[in-house]
Amino acid sequence: MFILISGIAAGERQGGIICKKGNILKHSNVMLAGLSALLLAACSPNTPETAPARPVPSDEPAGPADVMPAGPFAAAFPAWYEPAEPFRVIGNIYHVGPKGLGIFFIPTEDGHILIDGGLPENADGVLNSIRALGHDPRDVKYLLNTHAHFDHSGGLARLKAATGATLISSEGDRSALEGGFYLGFEDRPEFNAPPVKVDATLGDRGTVGVGGTVLTALLTPGHTRGCTSWRLTVEEAGTPYEVLIFCSASVAANRLAPDPQYDGIVADYESTFERARGWQPDVFLANHPEFSGLWQKRAAQLDGDALAFVDRDAFPAYMSKMEQGFRAQLVKQTGEE
Ligand SMILES: [Zn+2]
Repeated sequence: MFILISGIAAGERQGGIICKKGNILKHSNVMLAGLSALLLAACSPNTPETAPARPVPSDEPAGPADVMPAGPFAAAFPAWYEPAEPFRVIGNIYHVGPKGLGIFFIPTEDGHILIDGGLPENADGVLNSIRALGHDPRDVKYLLNTHAHFDHSGGLARLKAATGATLISSEGDRSALEGGFYLGFEDRPEFNAPPVKVDATLGDRGTVGVGGTVLTALLTPGHTRGCTSWRLTVEEAGTPYEVLIFCSASVAANRLAPDPQYDGIVADYESTFERARGWQPDVFLANHPEFSGLWQKRAAQLDGDALAFVDRDAFPAYMSKMEQGFRAQLVKQTGEE
Protein backbone atom coordinates (compact mmCIF):
# COMPACT_ATOMS: atom_id res chain seq x y z
CA MET A 1 0.00 0.00 0.00
CA PHE A 2 1.47 3.31 -0.96
CA ILE A 3 -0.43 6.48 -0.27
CA LEU A 4 1.28 9.77 0.04
CA ILE A 5 0.47 13.40 0.05
CA SER A 6 3.24 15.75 0.92
CA GLY A 7 3.62 19.46 0.99
CA ILE A 8 -0.08 19.91 1.59
CA ALA A 9 -0.99 22.94 3.61
CA ALA A 10 -4.35 23.04 5.26
CA GLY A 11 -4.43 26.57 3.94
CA GLU A 12 -6.65 29.29 5.22
CA ARG A 13 -9.47 30.37 3.08
CA GLN A 14 -8.11 32.98 0.77
CA GLY A 15 -9.45 36.52 0.81
CA GLY A 16 -10.73 37.51 -2.59
CA ILE A 17 -14.18 38.14 -3.82
CA ILE A 18 -16.72 35.40 -3.73
CA CYS A 19 -19.12 36.45 -6.40
CA LYS A 20 -22.60 35.20 -6.98
CA LYS A 21 -22.85 31.60 -7.91
CA GLY A 22 -24.10 31.84 -11.46
CA ASN A 23 -24.39 28.98 -13.85
CA ILE A 24 -22.93 29.16 -17.31
CA LEU A 25 -26.00 27.42 -18.65
CA LYS A 26 -28.13 30.42 -17.81
CA HIS A 27 -27.50 33.30 -20.07
CA SER A 28 -28.93 34.82 -23.15
CA ASN A 29 -27.92 34.07 -26.70
CA VAL A 30 -26.79 37.65 -27.02
CA MET A 31 -24.31 37.16 -24.22
CA LEU A 32 -23.30 33.88 -25.73
CA ALA A 33 -22.61 35.49 -29.07
CA GLY A 34 -20.31 38.04 -27.44
CA LEU A 35 -18.69 35.40 -25.35
CA SER A 36 -18.15 33.09 -28.29
CA ALA A 37 -16.46 35.89 -30.18
CA LEU A 38 -14.16 36.51 -27.24
CA LEU A 39 -13.31 32.86 -26.85
CA LEU A 40 -12.89 32.39 -30.58
CA ALA A 41 -10.39 35.20 -30.52
CA ALA A 42 -8.67 34.14 -27.39
CA CYS A 43 -8.80 30.46 -26.73
CA SER A 44 -9.04 28.07 -29.54
CA PRO A 45 -6.91 28.13 -32.66
CA ASN A 46 -8.96 25.35 -34.24
CA THR A 47 -12.40 26.73 -33.68
CA PRO A 48 -14.61 27.29 -36.70
CA GLU A 49 -15.69 30.84 -37.48
CA THR A 50 -19.38 30.21 -37.07
CA ALA A 51 -21.06 28.50 -34.18
CA PRO A 52 -22.02 25.06 -35.49
CA ALA A 53 -25.13 23.11 -34.66
CA ARG A 54 -25.57 21.74 -31.20
CA PRO A 55 -23.56 18.54 -30.82
CA VAL A 56 -25.43 15.25 -30.68
CA PRO A 57 -24.80 13.32 -27.49
CA SER A 58 -23.24 9.91 -27.76
CA ASP A 59 -25.26 6.73 -28.25
CA GLU A 60 -23.13 5.08 -25.59
CA PRO A 61 -24.94 3.89 -22.47
CA ALA A 62 -25.75 7.06 -20.65
CA GLY A 63 -24.98 5.95 -17.12
CA PRO A 64 -26.86 8.20 -14.75
CA ALA A 65 -30.35 9.13 -15.92
CA ASP A 66 -29.68 12.83 -15.45
CA VAL A 67 -26.92 13.20 -18.02
CA MET A 68 -26.29 16.88 -18.38
CA PRO A 69 -27.03 18.30 -21.83
CA ALA A 70 -24.57 20.48 -23.71
CA GLY A 71 -24.47 24.04 -22.46
CA PRO A 72 -23.53 27.19 -24.35
CA PHE A 73 -19.79 26.58 -24.39
CA ALA A 74 -20.23 23.09 -25.71
CA ALA A 75 -22.55 24.52 -28.35
CA ALA A 76 -19.95 27.12 -29.31
CA PHE A 77 -17.07 24.62 -29.20
CA PRO A 78 -18.58 21.27 -30.20
CA ALA A 79 -15.30 19.40 -29.69
CA TRP A 80 -15.51 20.25 -26.00
CA TYR A 81 -18.58 18.00 -25.79
CA GLU A 82 -17.82 15.53 -28.56
CA PRO A 83 -17.39 12.09 -27.01
CA ALA A 84 -14.06 10.36 -27.50
CA GLU A 85 -13.06 6.77 -26.80
CA PRO A 86 -10.90 6.66 -23.70
CA PHE A 87 -7.42 5.33 -24.41
CA ARG A 88 -4.09 4.61 -22.75
CA VAL A 89 -1.53 7.32 -23.52
CA ILE A 90 1.57 5.79 -21.95
CA GLY A 91 2.29 3.85 -18.76
CA ASN A 92 -0.81 4.08 -16.56
CA ILE A 93 -2.02 7.42 -17.96
CA TYR A 94 -5.33 7.38 -19.82
CA HIS A 95 -7.20 10.11 -21.66
CA VAL A 96 -10.84 10.20 -20.56
CA GLY A 97 -11.90 13.61 -21.84
CA PRO A 98 -14.01 14.59 -24.82
CA LYS A 99 -12.37 15.22 -28.17
CA GLY A 100 -11.57 18.84 -27.38
CA LEU A 101 -10.46 18.86 -23.72
CA GLY A 102 -7.61 16.96 -22.10
CA ILE A 103 -8.71 15.06 -18.97
CA PHE A 104 -6.35 12.43 -17.60
CA PHE A 105 -7.03 9.36 -15.48
CA ILE A 106 -4.30 7.49 -13.66
CA PRO A 107 -5.46 4.21 -12.15
CA THR A 108 -3.41 2.30 -9.60
CA GLU A 109 -4.17 -0.79 -7.58
CA ASP A 110 -4.63 1.31 -4.44
CA GLY A 111 -6.86 4.00 -5.90
CA HIS A 112 -6.95 6.39 -8.81
CA ILE A 113 -6.10 9.98 -9.71
CA LEU A 114 -8.14 12.17 -12.05
CA ILE A 115 -6.77 15.43 -13.44
CA ASP A 116 -9.30 18.09 -14.47
CA GLY A 117 -13.04 18.03 -14.86
CA GLY A 118 -13.76 19.79 -18.15
CA LEU A 119 -17.08 21.60 -18.40
CA PRO A 120 -19.89 20.67 -16.01
CA GLU A 121 -21.54 18.66 -18.79
CA ASN A 122 -18.34 16.64 -19.42
CA ALA A 123 -18.48 14.98 -16.00
CA ASP A 124 -20.88 12.19 -16.97
CA GLY A 125 -18.82 11.32 -20.03
CA VAL A 126 -15.65 11.20 -17.89
CA LEU A 127 -17.35 8.85 -15.42
CA ASN A 128 -18.53 6.64 -18.28
CA SER A 129 -15.02 6.57 -19.75
CA ILE A 130 -13.60 5.47 -16.40
CA ARG A 131 -16.20 2.69 -16.26
CA ALA A 132 -15.47 1.73 -19.87
CA LEU A 133 -11.82 1.25 -18.88
CA GLY A 134 -12.99 -1.24 -16.25
CA HIS A 135 -12.67 0.98 -13.18
CA ASP A 136 -15.12 2.17 -10.57
CA PRO A 137 -15.28 5.98 -10.33
CA ARG A 138 -15.72 5.58 -6.57
CA ASP A 139 -12.13 4.32 -6.45
CA VAL A 140 -10.84 7.74 -7.57
CA LYS A 141 -8.96 8.95 -4.50
CA TYR A 142 -7.61 12.28 -5.67
CA LEU A 143 -9.10 14.86 -7.95
CA LEU A 144 -6.54 17.36 -9.23
CA ASN A 145 -6.90 20.48 -11.36
CA THR A 146 -4.57 22.26 -13.73
CA HIS A 147 -6.36 25.58 -13.31
CA ALA A 148 -9.57 27.21 -12.19
CA HIS A 149 -11.16 28.05 -15.54
CA PHE A 150 -14.64 26.73 -16.30
CA ASP A 151 -13.45 24.52 -19.18
CA HIS A 152 -11.17 22.56 -16.84
CA SER A 153 -12.78 23.01 -13.42
CA GLY A 154 -16.48 23.13 -14.37
CA GLY A 155 -16.96 19.38 -13.99
CA LEU A 156 -15.08 19.04 -10.69
CA ALA A 157 -18.10 19.52 -8.40
CA ARG A 158 -20.06 16.80 -10.17
CA LEU A 159 -17.02 14.50 -10.33
CA LYS A 160 -16.25 15.05 -6.67
CA ALA A 161 -19.82 14.19 -5.71
CA ALA A 162 -19.78 11.03 -7.87
CA THR A 163 -16.36 9.77 -6.77
CA GLY A 164 -16.06 10.98 -3.19
CA ALA A 165 -12.46 11.92 -4.05
CA THR A 166 -10.29 14.42 -2.19
CA LEU A 167 -9.89 17.59 -4.24
CA ILE A 168 -6.41 19.07 -4.14
CA SER A 169 -5.54 22.43 -5.69
CA SER A 170 -2.99 25.18 -5.42
CA GLU A 171 -3.63 27.98 -2.95
CA GLY A 172 -3.64 30.48 -5.81
CA ASP A 173 -6.65 28.89 -7.50
CA ARG A 174 -8.49 27.85 -4.38
CA SER A 175 -10.70 30.94 -4.06
CA ALA A 176 -11.88 30.68 -7.67
CA LEU A 177 -12.68 26.97 -7.32
CA GLU A 178 -14.54 27.44 -4.05
CA GLY A 179 -16.26 30.65 -5.14
CA GLY A 180 -17.10 29.28 -8.58
CA PHE A 181 -15.82 32.38 -10.35
CA TYR A 182 -13.17 33.19 -12.95
CA LEU A 183 -10.54 35.30 -11.20
CA GLY A 184 -10.58 38.79 -12.66
CA PHE A 185 -13.95 38.25 -14.34
CA GLU A 186 -16.05 38.23 -11.17
CA ASP A 187 -18.56 40.41 -13.02
CA ARG A 188 -18.96 37.87 -15.84
CA PRO A 189 -21.30 35.16 -14.55
CA GLU A 190 -21.13 33.40 -17.91
CA PHE A 191 -17.54 32.45 -16.95
CA ASN A 192 -18.57 30.91 -13.63
CA ALA A 193 -18.22 27.25 -12.74
CA PRO A 194 -20.08 25.24 -10.10
CA PRO A 195 -18.30 25.99 -6.80
CA VAL A 196 -16.40 23.06 -5.33
CA LYS A 197 -14.80 22.64 -1.93
CA VAL A 198 -11.04 22.23 -1.97
CA ASP A 199 -9.96 19.64 0.60
CA ALA A 200 -6.26 20.44 0.62
CA THR A 201 -3.76 22.66 -1.15
CA LEU A 202 -0.32 21.78 -2.46
CA GLY A 203 2.63 24.13 -2.71
CA ASP A 204 5.31 24.06 -5.38
CA ARG A 205 6.93 20.62 -5.58
CA GLY A 206 4.35 19.15 -3.27
CA THR A 207 3.50 15.60 -4.20
CA VAL A 208 0.46 13.42 -4.29
CA GLY A 209 0.79 9.73 -4.76
CA VAL A 210 -1.05 6.46 -4.58
CA GLY A 211 -0.19 2.91 -5.55
CA GLY A 212 3.38 3.73 -6.53
CA THR A 213 2.47 6.64 -8.82
CA VAL A 214 3.68 10.01 -7.55
CA LEU A 215 2.75 13.34 -9.12
CA THR A 216 4.71 16.49 -8.35
CA ALA A 217 2.94 19.85 -8.50
CA LEU A 218 4.91 22.50 -10.36
CA LEU A 219 3.40 25.95 -9.95
CA THR A 220 3.41 27.69 -13.33
CA PRO A 221 1.26 30.79 -12.69
CA GLY A 222 0.21 33.40 -15.20
CA HIS A 223 -2.62 31.81 -17.13
CA THR A 224 -4.23 31.66 -13.69
CA ARG A 225 -2.81 32.70 -10.34
CA GLY A 226 -2.44 29.10 -9.21
CA CYS A 227 -1.87 27.40 -12.55
CA THR A 228 -0.45 23.98 -11.68
CA SER A 229 1.44 21.60 -13.92
CA TRP A 230 1.89 17.98 -12.92
CA ARG A 231 5.00 15.92 -13.44
CA LEU A 232 5.27 12.16 -13.05
CA THR A 233 7.35 9.27 -14.25
CA VAL A 234 5.68 6.30 -15.85
CA GLU A 235 7.06 3.08 -17.23
CA GLU A 236 6.45 1.72 -20.70
CA ALA A 237 7.94 -1.63 -21.71
CA GLY A 238 10.40 -1.42 -18.85
CA THR A 239 11.67 2.09 -19.66
CA PRO A 240 10.85 5.12 -17.50
CA TYR A 241 9.45 8.24 -19.17
CA GLU A 242 9.01 11.68 -17.66
CA VAL A 243 5.56 13.08 -18.34
CA LEU A 244 4.49 16.70 -17.94
CA ILE A 245 0.80 17.56 -17.84
CA PHE A 246 1.14 21.28 -18.36
CA CYS A 247 -1.35 23.85 -17.06
CA SER A 248 -1.22 26.46 -19.86
CA ALA A 249 0.77 29.57 -20.65
CA SER A 250 -1.59 31.20 -23.12
CA VAL A 251 -2.80 34.74 -22.52
CA ALA A 252 -6.29 33.82 -23.80
CA ALA A 253 -8.80 36.29 -22.34
CA ASN A 254 -6.42 37.52 -19.62
CA ARG A 255 -5.85 41.23 -19.09
CA LEU A 256 -2.14 41.85 -18.59
CA ALA A 257 -2.35 45.61 -18.15
CA PRO A 258 -3.77 48.01 -17.16
CA ASP A 259 -6.20 46.62 -14.57
CA PRO A 260 -4.57 43.19 -14.67
CA GLN A 261 -6.57 40.00 -14.34
CA TYR A 262 -4.88 39.62 -10.96
CA ASP A 263 -2.00 41.44 -9.26
CA GLY A 264 1.38 40.18 -10.39
CA ILE A 265 0.17 38.41 -13.52
CA VAL A 266 2.94 39.72 -15.79
CA ALA A 267 5.70 38.75 -13.35
CA ASP A 268 4.07 35.34 -13.00
CA TYR A 269 4.09 34.69 -16.75
CA GLU A 270 7.73 35.83 -16.89
CA SER A 271 8.74 33.51 -14.06
CA THR A 272 6.90 30.59 -15.65
CA PHE A 273 8.62 31.12 -19.02
CA GLU A 274 11.95 31.41 -17.25
CA ARG A 275 11.39 28.36 -15.12
CA ALA A 276 10.18 26.14 -17.92
CA ARG A 277 12.96 27.09 -20.31
CA GLY A 278 15.03 24.01 -19.49
CA TRP A 279 12.14 21.58 -19.32
CA GLN A 280 12.14 18.85 -21.90
CA PRO A 281 9.77 16.12 -20.78
CA ASP A 282 9.66 12.89 -22.75
CA VAL A 283 5.89 13.22 -22.96
CA PHE A 284 4.00 16.51 -23.00
CA LEU A 285 0.26 16.47 -22.32
CA ALA A 286 -2.11 19.42 -22.07
CA ASN A 287 -5.67 20.22 -21.13
CA HIS A 288 -6.34 21.44 -24.69
CA PRO A 289 -5.35 18.53 -26.96
CA GLU A 290 -4.22 20.79 -29.80
CA PHE A 291 -1.42 22.20 -27.59
CA SER A 292 0.37 18.87 -27.56
CA GLY A 293 -0.87 17.28 -30.80
CA LEU A 294 -2.72 14.65 -28.78
CA TRP A 295 -4.93 13.33 -31.57
CA GLN A 296 -2.17 13.21 -34.19
CA LYS A 297 -0.11 11.20 -31.72
CA ARG A 298 -3.08 8.98 -30.96
CA ALA A 299 -3.44 8.29 -34.70
CA ALA A 300 0.26 7.32 -34.84
CA GLN A 301 -0.24 5.08 -31.81
CA LEU A 302 -3.18 3.37 -33.53
CA ASP A 303 -0.91 2.88 -36.52
CA GLY A 304 1.40 0.83 -34.34
CA ASP A 305 3.82 3.35 -32.83
CA ALA A 306 3.78 2.31 -29.17
CA LEU A 307 5.85 5.36 -28.23
CA ALA A 308 3.88 7.87 -30.30
CA PHE A 309 3.56 10.19 -27.30
CA VAL A 310 7.30 10.34 -26.66
CA ASP A 311 8.30 13.65 -28.23
CA ARG A 312 10.95 15.65 -26.44
CA ASP A 313 10.64 18.61 -28.80
CA ALA A 314 6.94 19.14 -28.24
CA PHE A 315 7.02 21.07 -24.96
CA PRO A 316 9.86 23.51 -25.83
CA ALA A 317 8.14 24.20 -29.18
CA TYR A 318 4.81 24.86 -27.47
CA MET A 319 6.39 27.15 -24.86
CA SER A 320 8.23 29.15 -27.45
CA LYS A 321 4.91 29.79 -29.22
CA MET A 322 3.26 30.71 -25.91
CA GLU A 323 6.04 33.13 -25.04
CA GLN A 324 5.82 34.82 -28.42
CA GLY A 325 2.08 35.17 -27.95
CA PHE A 326 2.56 36.61 -24.47
CA ARG A 327 5.12 39.19 -25.66
CA ALA A 328 2.84 40.25 -28.52
CA GLN A 329 -0.12 40.62 -26.16
CA LEU A 330 1.98 42.56 -23.69
CA VAL A 331 2.92 45.09 -26.37
CA LYS A 332 -0.68 45.27 -27.57
CA GLN A 333 -2.18 45.68 -24.12
CA THR A 334 0.36 48.13 -22.70
CA GLY A 335 0.93 50.04 -25.93
CA GLU A 336 4.68 49.81 -25.26
CA GLU A 337 7.34 48.26 -27.44
ZN1 LIG B 1 -7.69 28.55 -18.99
